[in-house]
Amino acid sequence: MSTIAFIGLGNMGGGMAANLVKAGQTVIAYDLVQAALDRAAGHGCRIAASAAEAVGEADVVITMLPAGAHVRQVWSADVIPHARQGTLLIDCSTIDVDSARAVAEAASAAGFRAADAPVSGGIMAADAGTLAFMVGCADEVFAEVEQVLTPMARAVIHAGGAGAGQAAKICNNMVLGVSMLGVCEGFALAEKLGLDPERFFDIASKSSGQCWSLTTYCPWPGPVPTAPSNRNYEGGFLANLMLKDLKLAQAAAAASGASTPLGAQAEALYALFAGLGHGDKDFSAVLQMLRGKLEELA
Ligand code: NAD
Repeated sequence: MSTIAFIGLGNMGGGMAANLVKAGQTVIAYDLVQAALDRAAGHGCRIAASAAEAVGEADVVITMLPAGAHVRQVWSADVIPHARQGTLLIDCSTIDVDSARAVAEAASAAGFRAADAPVSGGIMAADAGTLAFMVGCADEVFAEVEQVLTPMARAVIHAGGAGAGQAAKICNNMVLGVSMLGVCEGFALAEKLGLDPERFFDIASKSSGQCWSLTTYCPWPGPVPTAPSNRNYEGGFLANLMLKDLKLAQAAAAASGASTPLGAQAEALYALFAGLGHGDKDFSAVLQMLRGKLEELA
């Protein structure tokens, strides 16, 4: 059994740390917010007075923080200077590829094994231990990373070297943002043409329009009972988080010279939707903006 320092026990990290405790690991938790620490203590984590204190006792450090700036700051000030030699360092936050590579390089220069391991799956998957992890690390480190992450996972996939996990995550979520908008436009046009949306679903789901956004996460209420569209788009994957990932994809496209015009359109549409005050709805709620029926989101 390992001693794991877990830094960042918010919506995602809280459930993830709880699953590590359930698997028999000793988890030393640190967060800036007292309520997050209280919840972690309730799940059986030991609470540290600082990130440095948590890190100093650990065999493994996991960070689950909002964005690249937080990860750079915590890894440079707390993790790398205070970890014991031999400690495995894993960042599970969704951050920009450059920050992921920068912290991996700093860790490697200080003699540590490190991985970026962002997740697919939201708060429910974090609580249930069914996240998909996309891992960027050296080949010889992957087996060890996989073993640590397994109690929180339905899948742990090696994407490549440092930063490859973040690259896989933002490419996947750009596909998702574009495909959701395509499905929403299909429903909006079907409605204007007088086509029954349920019939359109039946036909498109058995035709070449079939995709995850249509058949697993249908934005039109009704055809897929488990989709957030059936509960006024509450919960699920927030439009604000989709916007964050689309911004990361556009920044990566600009830096690498990739051509992603549909990703740029998706970013603009989700920025508009969030700017209209609906960023805390599930991302499939963008259907109501395209239908001109935002009042239905009240
Ligand atoms: P959150 O804001 O709920 O949690 C982040 C936590 O980090 C907070 O509790 C905050 O207090 C803590 N924190 C910030 N700076 C800190 C510091 N210096 N030291 C210690 N703690 C610090 O965010 P979340 O929803 O848990 O998301 C975490 C990451 O996972 C993000 O990068 C997000 O993009 C990604 N993600 C989220 C979801 C989701 O559905 N929420 C899904 C997939 C990926």
